[in-house]
Amino acid sequence: MKKSLMLTLTLLLLAGLAACSEEAASETTPTATTPLLTAYATTAATSIATTTETTTTSTAVATTTTSTTTPTTLTTTTTTTTTTTTKQPTASTNSGGNASYSYDYPGIAPVAAKVPADPYLICVNRNYHLPANYEPALQVCVPSYPEKIQMEATAATQYKKMYDAAKADGAELIPYSGYRSSARQKANFERLIRTNVDRGHSYAEAVNLAAQVILPPGCTEHSAGLAMDITRPGYWDTRDDFDTTKEFAWLKAHAHEYGFILRYPKEKTAVTQIIYEPWHWRYVGVGPATAMKVSGKCLEEYLGLA
Ligand code: ZN
Repeated sequence: MKKSLMLTLTLLLLAGLAACSEEAASETTPTATTPLLTAYATTAATSIATTTETTTTSTAVATTTTSTTTPTTLTTTTTTTTTTTTKQPTASTNSGGNASYSYDYPGIAPVAAKVPADPYLICVNRNYHLPANYEPALQVCVPSYPEKIQMEATAATQYKKMYDAAKADGAELIPYSGYRSSARQKANFERLIRTNVDRGHSYAEAVNLAAQVILPPGCTEHSAGLAMDITRPGYWDTRDDFDTTKEFAWLKAHAHEYGFILRYPKEKTAVTQIIYEPWHWRYVGVGPATAMKVSGKCLEEYLGLA
């Protein structure tokens, strides 16, 4: 009796940990009418390193050029009539809009990422959060699955192409977690902080440890709709040993052909500040993905942010 109680408690604990991991279940809200970028104007930005104040009257609207062959043609049409200032923002200066972020976590003080000329190269991490009002247009990736996991529309289209190609080669790239709202991310992040505190860590330590597994709200590319956590048949969750499977081998060989990169490689954890995640794949477009594969650079290195 006692043993079975212990087992039950252990299982409950494991279930709780899984639920709060970075790859926790996605948002599946089906409505997706906004374009990739709304209400976010940028001049011809090629660097994400400096952020800009965008309280100006930006009326930029992303126009979706409906080419299915050149996924990076989705560009921002800039109609802003004001100049972006070079004021160095703090987290508080970037608040407002649909997604306002305040970071009351010790050691966590990201600034707003600037949307680059190619918006699929936006880099969010512990240092950069998504701009306020950044709302991707969402689309279900693989409609045949009941979970209806979504990504940004172009990324979703490319994922489906990649999925079909892998399936034809005998590998099933099951979409597990795609788009995730910042509210969901916040809940996941803070749950893990509490778990770490319960394990005896100080609050600051708990935050730091949590951020290596789950990025703070606004800082995950899942909220940009550009990341997918992938599993395979027989896996009920994302797993470290995914990198021993034929699905992972297929991704390593072919994902770049569809614009996806392994975002948190084992040998780049010092740069990404995120644990090795063989399941987490990021859409950046075919050209950049190919360049990163050839060069061996991770996204931060490719963009000159590392
Ligand atoms: Zn992920």
